[in-house]
Amino acid sequence: MCCLICMADTDAIILKHSGKVSFFDCHRRELLSRHEYRSDIGKAITKRRSSKRLEGEQVVEWLDELVDDDDGGFLCYGEEHSWTHKSCLWELPYAKALVLPYNIDVMHQERNISAKKDLVEICDRPYLEIQINSNGMESRPRAPYYLKPEDRKQILKWLQTLNQYKRAVNVSTGKLNGLKSHDYHIFMERLLPVMFRGYFDDELWKLFAELSNFYRQLCAKVISKKLMRELEKGIPVLLCQMEKIFPPGFFNVMEHLLVHLPWEALAGGPV
Ligand SMILES: [Zn+2]
Repeated sequence: MCCLICMADTDAIILKHSGKVSFFDCHRRELLSRHEYRSDIGKAITKRRSSKRLEGEQVVEWLDELVDDDDGGFLCYGEEHSWTHKSCLWELPYAKALVLPYNIDVMHQERNISAKKDLVEICDRPYLEIQINSNGMESRPRAPYYLKPEDRKQILKWLQTLNQYKRAVNVSTGKLNGLKSHDYHIFMERLLPVMFRGYFDDELWKLFAELSNFYRQLCAKVISKKLMRELEKGIPVLLCQMEKIFPPGFFNVMEHLLVHLPWEALAGGPV
């Protein structure tokens, strides 16, 4: 469901109220087999293996088994697969030999994560359950990632002092407009930990800092196999920690793709 790497081997769910696909709680299976988070809640996931990665030959075999339906698609669409068409690229003579059939566009993925973390999104998504107070009114507790309006303004004004961002910042609407992929790239790898320092509690700030560090190491000009293997082990832990704070709707496929990036860097080389 949505992930080109996991394909059908995923625990992603469709959220009941929003109808969005969520990869919430899909990352404990990627942890080392004895990691403590595996047994945090429920036992079903503790023994699940990491999601399988299909190589070229397996994808071609799968495509060959698809059966056309009367609407121009394939039978069992949405139940057993998400294929809408067969790309001619799979007919190339070397398609079966591909170890890395897809390569995730890190800049695109980074941009989507970054856009989600913009200030407005953070402020507008309180995640705790709605509570009914003594007057029978609904109220929402303040989420740990809530930024007070005055803090938001301070951060935006600081961003305005940076040449690269000053034209993009709109303090009155609280939005960043017209940023390019490279701006988001810098935003995630350099600015994220700096701009939020002191505005969130240490636990949440540390998650932002670790995420930023992950991208910085992944996108370095020179990478080592050892470091990529460490990132591969570490990123599911970070995602599990984020799941303790952010709501299910936050974890769409873009957050999930983080677990696949270190392996792709190992197989395909520096980003
Ligand atoms: Zn996946």
